[in-house]
Amino acid sequence: VSRVASRFAGIEKSPTYAILDLAAELRAQGESILDLNGGEPDFDTPGHITAEGIEALSGGFTHYTPSRGLPELLTAVGDKLLRDNGLAVDPARQVVVTPSAKHALFLSVMTLLGPGDELLVPTPSWVSYPAMARLAGAEPVLAPLSADNGFRLTRQLLEQRLTPRTRALLINNPNNPTGNVLTADEAEAVAGVARDHDLFVITDEIYEKVRFRGEHLSIAALPGMADRTVTVNGFSKGYAMTGWRLGYAAAPEDVSAQMLKVQQHTVGCAGSFVQRGGLGALRGPQEPVEEMRAAYEFRRDLLVKGLSGIPGLVCPSPDAALYVFCDIGGTGCADPTAFTSWLLREAKVAVTPGSAFGPGGERHIRLAFATDEQTLREAVDRIHSAMERL
Ligand code: PLP
Repeated sequence: VSRVASRFAGIEKSPTYAILDLAAELRAQGESILDLNGGEPDFDTPGHITAEGIEALSGGFTHYTPSRGLPELLTAVGDKLLRDNGLAVDPARQVVVTPSAKHALFLSVMTLLGPGDELLVPTPSWVSYPAMARLAGAEPVLAPLSADNGFRLTRQLLEQRLTPRTRALLINNPNNPTGNVLTADEAEAVAGVARDHDLFVITDEIYEKVRFRGEHLSIAALPGMADRTVTVNGFSKGYAMTGWRLGYAAAPEDVSAQMLKVQQHTVGCAGSFVQRGGLGALRGPQEPVEEMRAAYEFRRDLLVKGLSGIPGLVCPSPDAALYVFCDIGGTGCADPTAFTSWLLREAKVAVTPGSAFGPGGERHIRLAFATDEQTLREAVDRIHSAMERL
């Protein structure tokens, strides 16, 4: 009999950690390992944002804030959602500022789903969604997209997995790991399924600002969707603020009221001075966001070009986010987990097996380009020479 709650049945340790453990072991043996496994921007947080945080700290702004968030930050988030996403929300009633986008997703899942409910998640997608559904006592149902059509979403694919228990769809747009940005047709397919089957949509838009092609469409802005969509976003990726832990969720008022209760009874509020940094990010100059985006685009091109010169690898150029999702089907090694371990031992490069992101990614590996050019060039060289020795 397990000593812990039954909700942990089916929750695996994050698969990305297995690679980190092996990388740490090799480093301890003195090996130099290049890390293309994580998705953390390597840039420092822009100076004007850090200055806001420091000023808040030195000014004694170190106390609790309202659970929903600082009123000025809520207003700034409301302005952002209107300006960038075409969403008209009442921030004092519909937005909750959270310690991380991850926590905003958790609040969303906890609030909308419970035992007996199903959360439909198209995959490949980020590793934490199924675990969040299970923590809420619900069941994740994975809808694998096909590598053969570039992991594009269709209405049919979603409808195939619906059951009378489906309560919500969780869409990651732009997507980690595929880098796809929803087209207007795909966004309408999601909205159509939600409207016709009376479902909620939770949309994770954390990579909105790290986009190289395509328009960003927020599903909540589509006709009839505002009242059934929770939009999650945050500061980690676009503003290089991963360690600050700051995000938010915009939801219909009745849903937001319940999300606020989960926040009140768990973390209380996001950090006070952290929220002041977030205010600086939204109200301050946006040039640093564009500079980082352009740098990622350059690195993306460098990595895609380098990998495409290696026989056996097929690496489409992603539209957004920080990852190349590379098809290894031509290498003769069909198992991405085995390939990833081999790459780590032979090339000393850490990447992530596509299978970590759910069904659909069984022939793929994910390589992050959130790291400097020198590391990316060396990683390509190392992978190339290791594969020549295959
Ligand atoms: N959503 C996706 C798709 C991510 O890839 C990540 C981080 O890797 C997050 C959410 C987490 O964002 P935050 O740092 O705000 O919790």
